[in-house]
Amino acid sequence: MTHTSVASATAVSAYAAPAPKAPLERITIPRRELGAHDILIEIKYAGICHSDIHTVRAEWGDDGNFPIVPGHEISGVVAEVGAEVSRYAVGDRVGVGCLVDSCRECENCRAGLEQYCTGELGMVGTYNATGRDGEPTYGGYSTHLVVDENYALRIPDGIPLDAAAPLLCAGITLYSPLAHWKAGPGKKVAIVGLGGLGHMGVKIAHAMGAEVTVLSQSLRKKDDGLRLGADHYYATSDPATFEALAGTFDLIINTVSADLDLGAYLGMLRTDGTLVQVGAPENPLSLSAFALLVGRKSIAGSAIGGIPETQRMLDFCGEHGLAADIEVIGAEQINEAYERVLASDVRYRFVIDAATI
Ligand code: NAP
Ligand code: ZN
Ligand code: ZN
Repeated sequence: MTHTSVASATAVSAYAAPAPKAPLERITIPRRELGAHDILIEIKYAGICHSDIHTVRAEWGDDGNFPIVPGHEISGVVAEVGAEVSRYAVGDRVGVGCLVDSCRECENCRAGLEQYCTGELGMVGTYNATGRDGEPTYGGYSTHLVVDENYALRIPDGIPLDAAAPLLCAGITLYSPLAHWKAGPGKKVAIVGLGGLGHMGVKIAHAMGAEVTVLSQSLRKKDDGLRLGADHYYATSDPATFEALAGTFDLIINTVSADLDLGAYLGMLRTDGTLVQVGAPENPLSLSAFALLVGRKSIAGSAIGGIPETQRMLDFCGEHGLAADIEVIGAEQINEAYERVLASDVRYRFVIDAATI
């Protein structure tokens, strides 16, 4: 983009799905002119989240506002600031996650839980949503993004921008429930699924001081899991796992993108334990009531995190030297990368180099 003026919307390059299940292709999209509190970000990297794939395949009972430019794990550098911007300056390293606006007035927004905004505007998704201005939002598989400074995050200096990008969704989606349910010393935490979310869950839960177990489909990634910080690693394809671990965990976080037999997993909780669902499969969850009744167990959900907590997560990762394990790809490899994510063949996040867009 040759950006000489902020007087009008600017056309930038992006990768979009033109229709449900269609391969992504290069298109041109508009980015709005800079408002007083907007910053223009030159995107450096965008992570590929499984939610991008669910969305462009229209798996969530939403027809989708095509063309969709996915991408809500965005890192980059501030290239320009609006007249009244106070939080950021040109050259700052910043990130944008899953939300770019919310009502700012409801109880949840005021509590820093913007992802649960109950105002009329609701949480405005970074893509496949409609902004305050009535225009569609387009995500991070793009060269530039205009966002309100209050919905951008500061990336600590010690974290490289490529490995930082996945923190903006995968990182916060695991940090938030781990913090809420108090993962820490003396707590036994299981992470189900060692993908993009799961591998960040292992790193963060370990850094919080919990005893961490990975529950993966096979033992194929066991060495990686232990290197990432897990204390134990089990295959869920082996029925003996469920017997050996019966009544073990205080907290189980399920990151799996497909249907699971949740009742079997609840059997691995201690009395009063909680299973937190963060994976968002296409089909409704199902389980027997008895799996909850016996042992006073809870099943809960958690969606990403609010803006203040996302900044706390980034600072925590900076202090503990945490970031994602990534494979950087060019934009022409996006469709192939999607197939590999669907085949659980990702170690552990694909990140698009925005210079190739
Ligand atoms: P991912 O990288 O594809 O990881 C998912 C992992 O689940 C896979 O690596 C695999 O781990 C396991 N898995 C996949 N298919 C399975 C199956 N049929 N049976 C058992 N295990 C299976 O995906 P992700 O980006 O981490 O996202 C995971 C889910 O979280 C998606 O549904 C996504 O939409 C959702 N999500 C939710 C939020 C939120 O706010 N709650 C935020 C972001 C994403 P193993 O190979 O180790 O078995
Ligand atoms: Zn995501
Ligand atoms: Zn609100």
